[in-house]
Amino acid sequence: MDILKLSNEIIAGRRLTSGEDKSFFITADLEKLCVGADQIRRALCGDHVDLCSIINGRSGRCSENCKFCAQSAHNCTGINEYGFLDEEDILAECRHNAERGVHRFSIVTAGRTLSGSDFEKAVSAYKKMNDECDIELCGSHGFLTDEQFRRLREAGVKRYHCNIETSRRNFPNICTSHTFDDKIACIKRAQAAGLEVCSGGIIGMGETWEDRIDMADTLAGLGVRSVPINALMPIKGTPFDSLKRLSEDDILRTVAIFRYILPEANIRLAAGRDLMRDCGKQAFLSGADSTITGDMLTTSGNDISSDKTMLIDMGFSL
Ligand code: SF4
Repeated sequence: MDILKLSNEIIAGRRLTSGEDKSFFITADLEKLCVGADQIRRALCGDHVDLCSIINGRSGRCSENCKFCAQSAHNCTGINEYGFLDEEDILAECRHNAERGVHRFSIVTAGRTLSGSDFEKAVSAYKKMNDECDIELCGSHGFLTDEQFRRLREAGVKRYHCNIETSRRNFPNICTSHTFDDKIACIKRAQAAGLEVCSGGIIGMGETWEDRIDMADTLAGLGVRSVPINALMPIKGTPFDSLKRLSEDDILRTVAIFRYILPEANIRLAAGRDLMRDCGKQAFLSGADSTITGDMLTTSGNDISSDKTMLIDMGFSL
């Protein structure tokens, strides 16, 4: 496979279909693969980088058994557990991000779902942020009903986050308390309610390259607009705490492959940027066009201002 020819074909309108053999991505020359992904990103997405930030609105005690997660009650990680945050704390963080030019802000809550008074608190916070802050709002609250999605949209939420995490085949190896189909159904309910969807996953959880490619195929088939790619940072006390960390080359190859399969989506760097040199600088030249940033996050060594400086120096616009 001539990878740069494929890149040009994608720029000209070709789209890879889920049934197509994509095994050539696994052995393609990494440098050429990344150059081609960068060309696709430049041609179809431009030089704008999308920055988003999150606040952990409710932490820990989650009933689900995701093996990578510090917040699962099945894992003994010593995480700081707390109930739904005060609205003023959420608003202050949202204002802070809006004032620093971050484009999107999301409340993320641990748990299979969000219901009762905690859901009402989230709706109230979204309404106030929508009224007071110049920033796009996203939400991440597990499996919600049609009615809950409708209420989030009315409160000003534009995009809903629900990671599929990995491939359908690999999903039972990382979680058994809910299914891959639960994830797909949730994504479809969010879309039916008029929300855009942000969905990606975590690499480095023992999956194969075929699993990563299948994950990208699934996301392309769902019409997902934003695809966070996390590289596992093994957390002590989780079943994955002794997994080997991914190499930078493997992360770059994954980012580039996702750009070929999802040429118009935001390919968003999330956790694991620390596994790469210069906080993932090379990944922005290998297909990535978005990132999670923030001054509260611990998953990357960069804060908002150093991310902005790096990206502007690289020729991106914010
Ligand atoms: S459902 Fe979410 S918060 Fe709960 S264990 Fe899984 S990833 Fe963690």
